[in-house]
Amino acid sequence: MSLAEDGLPPLREVVARHGLDARKALGQNFLFDLNLTRRIARAAGPLAGATVIEVGPGPGGLTRALLAEGAAKVIAVERDARCIPALAEIAARAPGRLEIVEGDALATTPVELARRATGPVRICSNLPYNVGTALLVRWLTDGDWPPVWDRLVLMFQREVALRIVAGPERRADYGRLGVLAGWRTQARILFDVPPSAFTPSPKVTSSVVELAPRPAPAPCRLATLEAIAAAAFGQRRKMLRQSLKSFAAARGGAAEDLLARAGIAPTKRAEEIPVDGFVVLARVADG
Ligand code: SAM
Repeated sequence: MSLAEDGLPPLREVVARHGLDARKALGQNFLFDLNLTRRIARAAGPLAGATVIEVGPGPGGLTRALLAEGAAKVIAVERDARCIPALAEIAARAPGRLEIVEGDALATTPVELARRATGPVRICSNLPYNVGTALLVRWLTDGDWPPVWDRLVLMFQREVALRIVAGPERRADYGRLGVLAGWRTQARILFDVPPSAFTPSPKVTSSVVELAPRPAPAPCRLATLEAIAAAAFGQRRKMLRQSLKSFAAARGGAAEDLLARAGIAPTKRAEEIPVDGFVVLARVADG
């Protein structure tokens, strides 16, 4: 048996031995290139002394890279029970440094997981495409702010990555996700990963995104901000005086009045309003 630099078998061999044929329903597109997983892990670094939460370790390519890059601890949450024995082999090579949590990442939170962490907490994952956005929204909205994690380094489909980092300068991609991410974090795309890097190959390019929390985002109520962004982008082709009509009426007011108090022209559309504009609207709406 040939061994990789970390003394463990090559990932293709691990997958074959444990019968880990990729399942679409679990968003399984595995990375076998340890140079690429090292590159992703390095983007989350430096990791010495840090705990990394990884969602969906699968056969463990990124997990191995995070350990090789010096993470004090990796807490890996995997839903597919078939992957657990493969992950246990990695844990045996890194005593006390890999904690495997079998279960649905949507059923837990970084706050809960961070109770077992040492040092700063980072989240680094090649996310399953079917739940990636839901997880990100959870991490951006759950618990106090600033959050328990000091950085997210996450792989998404490029189309989702573009929506996360978009503002009014990228109108077609700008929406609720861009408002939420832009309000609480500084988000940027680090690099793209072609379909050929994955097994099986997805149809689309992926991107690794970094989100660094803003220590003090402009103050407003999260629920109000989300409701305004949902109303405005829910009818993105309409002017705000129209798209915010129901939102304002539900609060006993008029959209024109709300917009005037926020200093925003009623003829603007959602995709023309920067994140700060939505924050001002949310503050005004809460009076
Ligand atoms: N990290 C591995 C890699 O890079 O090769 C696998 C990434 S694969 C895109 C996504 C992984 O997430 C799969 O192992 C899948 O079983 C797991 N997964 C899917 N849904 C999950 C969920 N709700 N909670 C935890 N893990 C999940």
